[in-house]
Amino acid sequence: MLLVSNETVMPLHGAALKAELALSGRPVDSFVLPDGEAHKNWQSLQSLLEFWAEAGADRHSVVLAFGGGVVGDLAGCAAALFMRGLRFIQIPTTLLAQVDSSVGGKTGINLPQGKNLVGSFHQPIAVWADQGLLRTLPEREFSAGLAEVIKYGPIADSEFFSWLEGAMPALRQRDSETLALAVRRSCEIKAAVVGADEREGGVRAILNFGHTFGHALEAGLGYGRLLHGEAVALGMVMAAELSHRHLGTDPALVSRLQALLRVAGLPIRAPRMDPALFMQLMRGDKKSVSGMVRYVLIPAIGQAELVAAPDEMALACVAAHSE
Ligand code: NAD
Ligand code: MG
Repeated sequence: MLLVSNETVMPLHGAALKAELALSGRPVDSFVLPDGEAHKNWQSLQSLLEFWAEAGADRHSVVLAFGGGVVGDLAGCAAALFMRGLRFIQIPTTLLAQVDSSVGGKTGINLPQGKNLVGSFHQPIAVWADQGLLRTLPEREFSAGLAEVIKYGPIADSEFFSWLEGAMPALRQRDSETLALAVRRSCEIKAAVVGADEREGGVRAILNFGHTFGHALEAGLGYGRLLHGEAVALGMVMAAELSHRHLGTDPALVSRLQALLRVAGLPIRAPRMDPALFMQLMRGDKKSVSGMVRYVLIPAIGQAELVAAPDEMALACVAAHSE
């Protein structure tokens, strides 16, 4: 077995995992990456592949990705490449990885030119999401993961959205049973959407609710200022506002979303950004066609659509929810 983790997760949870793996009697070769998105790169990929070759890995080896989305994306990418593909298992240790990145089969690394530019679709044979692992996650990372959980309500399940409104205090206490329910429903929704459109030809794009505005905020303010989930939280408020103004959606979507995000420990007012830059960054988004930017909008809670909207209207929504 080929265990891949990082220098933060391994000291916290490595011994417990290794004790479990020892029961299988199979040898474990561990590769420990430095922590951080900056290491989701060629150099780490190369070192990992060479380590496996050196350790005598073969087609029967199974890769275990033990960490957050960075470890999962990189280890999955290496698994897809080594000897043209090894089986791999995701053991996600962040909330974001448990509800999002470990499911769906996207793997990859970043280039200096942009995020996730190299990679492969390579499905894990299993995902083992243990909510006990989340107890050591820093508060801010945990809240950022909650943004992706909240996302699934508006796009796919109005009952889940209502359930989250009641369950949020328990989730923030990291109550294992409540967390397990939230993770399970999130994975069911993601799996159903990905199952219908694995290679993102159409409906998979709805998983990007809040992400068009969010990516512009992340890039415009400089990566590292906002966590991805925080930018998505702000982006969802803006996209909800645009749904109201453009599609006539009940404005309760905006107020309920804001209230839920606040209880989840997430920001709901964005730092101010230059509108021209904001629009330019959104235009670079993969979803735009022939000039008009398309957004994931919510005609009614539990439904999502890709809709083009005029720039002035989108920017008015940004302004309405910025400082
Ligand atoms: P991350 O992997 O960087 O983890 C966040 C931080 O938490 C890191 O410092 C990590 O070491 C630490 N950590 C992890 N588990 C911990 C634990 N149990 N206790 C304490 N600390 C812990 O970030 P992330 O938010 O998990 O993932 C972000 C990455 O996921 C990005 O690279 C993004 O591109 C990718 N992603 C991929 C997909 C996909 O479909 N493949 C989807 C969404 C995001
Ligand atoms: Mg996301």
